Amino acid sequence: MSKVATAKQKEVQRIVDALSIAIAQHRLKPGMRLVEAQIVEVLKANRNHVQAALQRMALLHIVTIEPNRGAMVAQPEAREAREIFTARRAIESAIVGSITPADIARYRDDIDAQQDAEKRAATREDRRDIVRELSHFHLLLGTVSGNKVLSEILSNLMVRSSLIVALYQRNDIPSCQCAEHGAIIEALDAGDPARAQAIMIDHLNELEQQLDLNDSAFDDLNLHQALLAD
Ligand SMILES: [Zn+2]
Repeated sequence: MSKVATAKQKEVQRIVDALSIAIAQHRLKPGMRLVEAQIVEVLKANRNHVQAALQRMALLHIVTIEPNRGAMVAQPEAREAREIFTARRAIESAIVGSITPADIARYRDDIDAQQDAEKRAATREDRRDIVRELSHFHLLLGTVSGNKVLSEILSNLMVRSSLIVALYQRNDIPSCQCAEHGAIIEALDAGDPARAQAIMIDHLNELEQQLDLNDSAFDDLNLHQALLAD
């Protein structure tokens, strides 16, 4: 791989990261237009790199690119939202299932700092901080597991989850999940990954239930089934 290609890849990644963080923190909302010229200016980036970054995010389903209209932040449908939660249950169960007490010991400082940050954000009731910290906890578990493939899949699912929360969350201020997160760490620390997995699944079910996913596609399906069930 040439040095030039590496520099370009790094720059594209920098743009992807900046946009992903803004989406995860709900500064960029679903459906918002992503004007190339503005991104070039704000991120002091090259136009080709911005285009490459948007293309990559389109492949990750974080951005939608429409001919003649350009790029916009994706607006996942309710069906996709449910599929993302199914995927998160599978991936995060695998992550939690592979974490040993030794892994927890190695990351003890990061885990403690993370739990403090979650509590502080919940006390301040700052929506952006809460959303960021709650998502960080899940990503941190990926890091603790040491499995880079699972972590990479989870990073993508977490950005898409942020879009879903922005679109379908019923309550404006997300409830504190510090207790559930704490219970997962406690079980892992005690060398009981099966219990940690069960708490994680319950936790993700709870998060999914806080969303209002009864869209028209779901109603159509019911109507279809109702007409067939003679
Ligand atoms: Zn959580």
